[in-house]
Amino acid sequence: MDHDATLDLDARAYALDRAHVFHSWSAQGALDPVVIAGGSGTRVWDHAGREYLDFSSQLVNVNIGHQHPAVVQAIVEQAQQLTTISPPTAHLVRGEAARRIAAVAPDGMDKVFFTNGGADAVENAIRMARLHTGRDKVLSRYRSYHGNTGAAIVATGDWRRVPNEFARGHVHFFGPYLYRSEFWAETPEQECERALQHLRRMIEVEGPASIAAVLLESIPGTAGVLVPPPGYLAGVREVCDQHGIVLILDEVMAGFGRTGDWFAHTAHGVVPDLITFAKGVNSGYVPVGGVIISDAIAATFDERVFPGGLTYSGHPLAMASIVASIDAMTAEGIVENAATIGRDVLGPALQDLAERHPSVGEVRGVGVFWAIELVADPQTRAPLPAAAMGTVKAELVKRGLLPFIVDNRIHAVPPCVVTRDDVAEAVTIYDEVLSLVDPSL
Ligand code: PMP
Repeated sequence: MDHDATLDLDARAYALDRAHVFHSWSAQGALDPVVIAGGSGTRVWDHAGREYLDFSSQLVNVNIGHQHPAVVQAIVEQAQQLTTISPPTAHLVRGEAARRIAAVAPDGMDKVFFTNGGADAVENAIRMARLHTGRDKVLSRYRSYHGNTGAAIVATGDWRRVPNEFARGHVHFFGPYLYRSEFWAETPEQECERALQHLRRMIEVEGPASIAAVLLESIPGTAGVLVPPPGYLAGVREVCDQHGIVLILDEVMAGFGRTGDWFAHTAHGVVPDLITFAKGVNSGYVPVGGVIISDAIAATFDERVFPGGLTYSGHPLAMASIVASIDAMTAEGIVENAATIGRDVLGPALQDLAERHPSVGEVRGVGVFWAIELVADPQTRAPLPAAAMGTVKAELVKRGLLPFIVDNRIHAVPPCVVTRDDVAEAVTIYDEVLSLVDPSL
């Protein structure tokens, strides 16, 4: 391909996108998408070979990095053998995928229901909890994202739930977020205690016997990587146990390596009843998600029919990619790499940025799951306005870093295979761009 021809491909990709592709969560006219044609590891590039360091992981998805050869090969081999099979059949690769997921899940969670992605995983987890308990209500957090389908979008606690008031039995509560505490707390201990008091009171007022499930992301991701204070998840577990409420932990974004562990909740010493997953389980190479089910809830449906299913549940290409992905992550120590990089390199480097830049209100995170929260005024903590965030995004892209920006935050979420050199490069770029923002304060 000559140089001019590749340039044409980028222009063509852009023009086709603008003419025919209708995008998620966007005013269509305001979009200016980056063209991506290929990738490897932590890098992606366009047709002309312009390279970007991917610190977005494509919506916090490609934990194993782009184009891992073993995963690509597993998909190709499966495609050559059998590309489609309906759910009510036994399929060796589906069984192997489920076994691997159960093996990294807590003890006593041995069954997996496969879905097409994260939202329908949440949808089915809610249904299981309702049928298991015979109760109706689902309590979930403000500042959360659970997916864009019927119950999942209503359970979501950010601006997106607004036009979806139709589902019944959904109640929101405040979770811990010390930097913008809803509880006027000043320490993590206070925030934790008051957030638990608030939840207990909500449950009391709503009526414990009417509540099927408490649904929360182990670490709310899109809402700002809100790592809970020590003791919070254990406190939620305790109040759920007290009232026979199912605890659903949404690990769609946080699971499968992102936090330096197979699941984000592990470090908090809790075992949920249902876990939803997607993304990192196979790094999104083929769309898939699912629910990991406690033995007790699975037993509910031994005799009784589970009224739910999807044509693509356990799709062979997705299953083959899960098997290869979990095997490669294990063999190559990819989860451990996320833990080490987070603890020794990325975390300290971001803390250093926070100390040097007045525009950084707070950085928080774990593993390769971090948020840099930008403010217009460090005293009032007023969020950096959208227009300035637009500039931040454009300047990062201009310097060859593909960012994940949500509201007033840069989410620093590279693949789990990220190296020390990648981090050094990204932090230099963040540093330069933050220096552009500081003077506006
Ligand atoms: N839950 C969480 C925690 C998520 O982050 C997401 C997607 N970002 C979803 C559910 C929905 O997943 P999907 O987009 O695959 O439906």
